[in-house]
Amino acid sequence: MVREKDFDIPFSGLKLGTHQFDFDIVESFFELFENSEVKKATLKVAIKLNKKATLLDLEFDISGNVELSCDTCADLYLQDLNEQFNLIVKFSDLVESTESDEIIILSTREHTLSLAKSIYEFIHLSLPSKRSHADEEECNQDMLENIRQFEIKEQTEKEDVEIDPRWASLKNIKHK
Ligand SMILES: [Zn+2]
Repeated sequence: MVREKDFDIPFSGLKLGTHQFDFDIVESFFELFENSEVKKATLKVAIKLNKKATLLDLEFDISGNVELSCDTCADLYLQDLNEQFNLIVKFSDLVESTESDEIIILSTREHTLSLAKSIYEFIHLSLPSKRSHADEEECNQDMLENIRQFEIKEQTEKEDVEIDPRWASLKNIKHK
């Protein structure tokens, strides 16, 4: 079982310059978060941290695959991911400092950077808007056939409605 703490970087002891951190992301990582869309994945997150005098500059490289549900046939499939993200960590004790996906503000008294939440968010930002098997031939053919049958049935029912005058008048009411 992984813990959020496993993704902490104690940065205060690091020398100025670039440091490399590699994390393996597996199933149990997503159990740290409620309602994660991703449940299964095999990912590598390579982080290049550049420590500067006043800030930390991080480059995330996320690669591997996640299990998603196909939009076309609803079966699970493995989606390759290969995405890069940047994160800047600034230091301030002002309450009004604003954070975003790309900027984290830490107190000047902080010594540790927690990256679990950023890794989680970046993985979800990497997910494609269209999710499907690379080729429709890989789709669940039985399911595709069911969907086709269902669409034919729906189409026939629609035509019935148009033919039946009682339904036709109801339809007019609905459109008013
Ligand atoms: Zn499919």
